[in-house]
Amino acid sequence: MRVLVVEDEPRMAQLIRQGLEEESYAVDVVDNGRDVLLWAQSAAYDIILLDIMLPGMNGLDVCRQLRAEGFIMPILMLTARDTLPDKVKGLDSGADDYLVKPFAIEELTARMRALLRRDSPDKSALLTVGDLTLNPATKLARRGEQVIELTAKEYSLLETLMRHPNQVLSRDQIIEHVWDMEFESGSKLIEVYIYALRKKIDVGRDNKLIQTVRGMGYRIGDHETH
Ligand code: CA
Repeated sequence: MRVLVVEDEPRMAQLIRQGLEEESYAVDVVDNGRDVLLWAQSAAYDIILLDIMLPGMNGLDVCRQLRAEGFIMPILMLTARDTLPDKVKGLDSGADDYLVKPFAIEELTARMRALLRRDSPDKSALLTVGDLTLNPATKLARRGEQVIELTAKEYSLLETLMRHPNQVLSRDQIIEHVWDMEFESGSKLIEVYIYALRKKIDVGRDNKLIQTVRGMGYRIGDHETH
């Protein structure tokens, strides 16, 4: 999952980045309100965390602008203000939820999972493909009865594939959701992580879930039932 953090206080931005990276999110930080639209147009962010008090343009106006431009990803407002009118204004500007500083990173990530779940048809907390399940809260995968431990990037890649079951994702689509702006294009990282995932999930099993679609990208699906 790729997240854009809009926060002008460097210490707070760093704490959020660190907390989210430990939870396997790919994180980009922007420190003013003016540039958010450009960033949102430059990559496929799955969710935006938006501070209200920002230089350039405040978070409420940024939120209205994003919605007016047609961006539909979840937006979670972060702010030190906790008065009722501000919460109402935040939600009325197009935000999906509201979190008051200071907050525990555990609460932030739990709310992000809840917002990201709204898109899934069955609202289930678990992602499922065939006999493979992935739990975004614990980051553990399970194939049948076997528990599979994943590294942060393996988790992130698998989550991206499993949120689009039976769809081919191109390298660019995968990079947009799994890596931040630091990613070096042309690197073989995706191939390396796909190889690692296959070893954990498919090797030694008849029913291979991860498929390479030559010249197009990768897909996860249970083709024994499709
Ligand atoms: Ca601020």
